Amino acid sequence: MNHPARFGRSNSDGTVDCLLCPQHCHIADGKRGVCGARANEKGVLDSLNYELVSAVALDPIEKKPLYHYYPGKMILSIGTVGCNLRCQFCQNHHLSRYYDDGEFLQLNRMTPAQVVSAVKDSDSVGVAYTYSEPSIWAEYVIDVSKLMRDAGLKNIWVTNGYIEKEPLEEILPLMDAANIDLKAFSDENYKSLGGRLQPVLDTIRRCHEYGTHIELTTLVIPDYNDNMVELESLVKWIASVDKSIPFHISRYFPHYHFEKPSTDVDLLGEVFNLAKEHLEYVYIGNVLADSNSYCPVCGNLLVKRMGFSTHVTGLKNEGGQTFCGQCGTAAKFIL
Ligand code: SF4
Repeated sequence: MNHPARFGRSNSDGTVDCLLCPQHCHIADGKRGVCGARANEKGVLDSLNYELVSAVALDPIEKKPLYHYYPGKMILSIGTVGCNLRCQFCQNHHLSRYYDDGEFLQLNRMTPAQVVSAVKDSDSVGVAYTYSEPSIWAEYVIDVSKLMRDAGLKNIWVTNGYIEKEPLEEILPLMDAANIDLKAFSDENYKSLGGRLQPVLDTIRRCHEYGTHIELTTLVIPDYNDNMVELESLVKWIASVDKSIPFHISRYFPHYHFEKPSTDVDLLGEVFNLAKEHLEYVYIGNVLADSNSYCPVCGNLLVKRMGFSTHVTGLKNEGGQTFCGQCGTAAKFIL
């Protein structure tokens, strides 16, 4: 059962244009766009994955990763299928490439009301739209998010940031927090994923300007984006937006069509040191490392993490603002 898609236009020759993401797919009757999840059905743009859920799990919020938003809480996580980029190293390719080569997967239907009920039945602060790319699930994400808001629950968006301004402006008021992938810092590297860099930078800046809590993630991949000059430009750009944005450096493991060995742990340490020169909160993920949060001014331990066990130790909350319990400096956490 398909669902009428928004953010597109029907043309007089029977084709449709999808304007949801910067791919701007021009789709002939009976064909699908790059993401596979939107199709031209007799001159009308349809969403094929509305209410289609590939995975549901109750996860620690740190797993999204979000380290500064309700640390230690659980979040009900849901995902669909399809993706508007084509990363050869995709860590979830059985979901992202479902429409190309994964149609053996069992998908379940969940109405927006059923998602809200599932969140209420769980020990969760809200729902995270994650696992595959939620931008291309926009109509469903918007419908669920509105019901979640009405129920006083939180919405979290885990995204590649490859979305156009108009749908983003509709999604942003509904999102409480987001983790956005910044996969590289060159157009050449984004082109190899079938995208462009600038729209992702625009999304990050728009989310920040709107006041949404954001954290950023870069998967460091050998011989793809591990050039220190490019990585320095990347962290400097983040600092130019806001040096207090939490930045997650994640270790790559071979997946899908990418067979390079896992990222060298020493290299991750070098990237961490580089990022710490410019940013206040930097973390290494997918590896056993110190993942605690420290006050960038006095070094006080703010949040202690061991695996996915999290304890808020050095923060105080006053009037909805969070401060370092030792030096009193404002700290970028939401508790
Ligand atoms: S959302 Fe899908 S169909 Fe629409 S422009 Fe992006 S890739 Fe193309």
